[in-house]
Amino acid sequence: MSEPPHDPAAALAAVLRRIDKAARAAGRDPADVTLTAVSKQQPPERVAAVLIAGQRVFGENRVQEARARWTERRADLELRLIGPLQSNKAGEAVAFFDVIESLDRDKLARALAGEIQAQGRSPRLYVQVNTGEEPQKAGVVPAEADAFLKACRDTYGFNIEGLMCVPPADEEPAMHFALLAKIAARNGLRKLSMGMSGDFETAVRFGATSVRVGSALFGGRG
Ligand SMILES: *Cc1c(COP(=O)(O)O)cnc(C)c1O
Repeated sequence: MSEPPHDPAAALAAVLRRIDKAARAAGRDPADVTLTAVSKQQPPERVAAVLIAGQRVFGENRVQEARARWTERRADLELRLIGPLQSNKAGEAVAFFDVIESLDRDKLARALAGEIQAQGRSPRLYVQVNTGEEPQKAGVVPAEADAFLKACRDTYGFNIEGLMCVPPADEEPAMHFALLAKIAARNGLRKLSMGMSGDFETAVRFGATSVRVGSALFGGRG
């Protein structure tokens, strides 16, 4: 028997139910958890299906791809950049996104500050923390997070909204979520972007205020 075709609208309803259940189980208000639908590399018909089903918050990991996909359908959406950002794309990112979740170094902070000033447009900002200290991964290492957050406030005048992490693929995510929550708490930050298709319920248990879910919603990325 062949499997039925993936139905993104049904998957959206199922993911929202799972978020709701995980939040209640943790004694949290489900309304405090936002679903970011990660539409990167997904075909337009799958994305259209969740748009029709009412989803309005989307995550993309590339500026170029996001602009190509969303420029014509920008109104009433919240678009979040969740992938690494090069300093020379800071201007495009500030112009296009509502939220940038991948701020992780001084050079990028300086570029963003300049663009925010020049454009008079301020996307909400998250600092990405490389909780697993993986050399190939973006993010400030935990030991440098406090100092970087201080520089974001004092040097660049940013009002950082929260922290984001992508735990190592081969490790128990819970300890990484707990670490991110701890760094946020000691820096007075309330928002945590953490949890993906394989672990978003765990992330909700550890305090995620937004979860970034791609394949569980849209199906695999080719
Ligand atoms: C691709 C991506 C996701 C979504 O991953 P899934 O496992 O498909 O849910 C979440 N966060 C980031 C930063 C990503 O690049």
